[in-house]
Amino acid sequence: MLGQMQNWPLLVSKLLESGEVNHPNREVFSMLPEGGEFRYTFKDLALRARKCAQAMERLGIEKGDRVATLAWNTHRHVELWFAGSGMGGVTHTVNPRLFPEQLIYIMNHAEDKILFLDVTFVPLIEKLAPMLETIEHYVIMVGREHMPETSLPNVICYEEFVEAEDGNYEWPQLDENTACGLCYTSGTTGNPKGVLYSHRSNFLHTLTVLQKDVLSIGAHTVILPVVPMFHANAWGIPYAALAAGSKLVLNGPHHDPETLHMLLMREKVTMTAAVPTVWMQMLRHLKENDLNCGELKDVTIGGSAVPRSMIQTFQDDYGVRVNHAWGMTECSPLGSLGSENSAVAELSNEEKLDVQCKQGRPVLGVEMAIKDDDGNHLPWDGKSSGRLMVRGPWIVESYYRSGETALDDEGWFDTGDVSLMDEYGFMQITDRAKDVIKSGGEWISSIDLENEAVGHPGVAEAGVIGVYHPKWDERPLLCIVEEDGQTVTKEEMLAYLDGKIAKWWMPDDVVTVEELPHTATGKISKKDLRDQFKDYKLPGT
Ligand code: ADP
Repeated sequence: MLGQMQNWPLLVSKLLESGEVNHPNREVFSMLPEGGEFRYTFKDLALRARKCAQAMERLGIEKGDRVATLAWNTHRHVELWFAGSGMGGVTHTVNPRLFPEQLIYIMNHAEDKILFLDVTFVPLIEKLAPMLETIEHYVIMVGREHMPETSLPNVICYEEFVEAEDGNYEWPQLDENTACGLCYTSGTTGNPKGVLYSHRSNFLHTLTVLQKDVLSIGAHTVILPVVPMFHANAWGIPYAALAAGSKLVLNGPHHDPETLHMLLMREKVTMTAAVPTVWMQMLRHLKENDLNCGELKDVTIGGSAVPRSMIQTFQDDYGVRVNHAWGMTECSPLGSLGSENSAVAELSNEEKLDVQCKQGRPVLGVEMAIKDDDGNHLPWDGKSSGRLMVRGPWIVESYYRSGETALDDEGWFDTGDVSLMDEYGFMQITDRAKDVIKSGGEWISSIDLENEAVGHPGVAEAGVIGVYHPKWDERPLLCIVEEDGQTVTKEEMLAYLDGKIAKWWMPDDVVTVEELPHTATGKISKKDLRDQFKDYKLPGT
């Protein structure tokens, strides 16, 4: 027997409409790539999104067409992102930090029909345009007064494009399983792979993001999503902000701690989210200039493991609660979140901190399992580590145009992460499967070593890789970036680690580097680091 309730399709245009109807005067603030800043309301945003959808339809963009964006977090990007999906197209947020060859590959693979780009990316796209096989129109996201001279073909000025319409437009009532957005993984191994989100998956993901324990988002929240929209939809924050009535503060192309801090203070931000590297710079800036965080209460950190020292500094020195999140492009991206449950609430502060360093408990809508290499399920005992498997309504089923399932026989997606589950139901990533150091048949977690190493006050960043060892196969090499004006010798570093890690995990060598290579999503690029040290000989070998 079927239920007898309304079949109201779960569409992202409904999230936008909810913001417009229920919170019309809530503000959106945006820094602009062409310079200056801008402020308007949810009502204005929704109107402009409708105008943008009208304009695209007039230009010949049809349902199912891929609408690419190469843009920072701005009000224009948000309105266009809703417009592309809402009208039945597929908004494809392209990560401008990828290499040119990857950008060409991705846009051709997606068969993008139109590209909306920030004015800052015009020189880059002028070089790539001859190789972009399917793009018919280039829309530069500025007003006429800031339109550059350009060799791009079929160029459109965004403000004129949008403002030529009247906004008298109804969002189509699509099937909720219609494709809505496209995001490519950064391709740390092989070519980037496309993850094709649906309206339903993004809508359900938003409902979970809005739960009390998840990202602390509500009608009173003022959110600065530093995480870019091209990084898994800014972790779903713009959808959630519109749905909940939270003020959105968008930092445009600015990621420097000075600007971010100015925004925190001036716009009275209460919640923000980004990868650890952003916060590393911010904490240094706060300390050096003796600043505070204003009204900031919550910071969500994910994308890479969050070091204990970072959690402690935020909480003890600035009174800001750290939410350690785990996710990936394939999970829309949210998988687990570190807010305490009732069992953890009973623990001592030190023990709570231990739990916060883990990647959190699965959110409603995400199931997790740990399997060994033969596909056997491992117990959640805090010891057995294996492949982290996930399933749920916003987890990838197959990669875009791959033609094959990405799931195992039981319907689980293999995340490529190695993890364990503790007795409180908190998941802990010990490594990415390809980054674990295999020493004499045992596994050493590069993440654990890095987290300990950055606890040293003279260390700004640390990366650990396995390098060849004739007896043990691989041994850990610790690469550190020193804090400005500090020197940390190998002996000091090893003495610091002594007692904090198992003896046989002790790095065989410590080298100081000017900087560590990073991927387009802000993680330490272990692949590049391994390349850099591929001929490295450990002492005594
Ligand atoms: P990429 O395109 O680089 O794969 P993703 O954001 O999809 O970008 O990366 C997802 C991966 O990031 C996860 O599989 C995991 O290895 C890592 N990751 C994400 N959050 C965390 C975290 N809190 N701690 C450790 N690793 C994390």
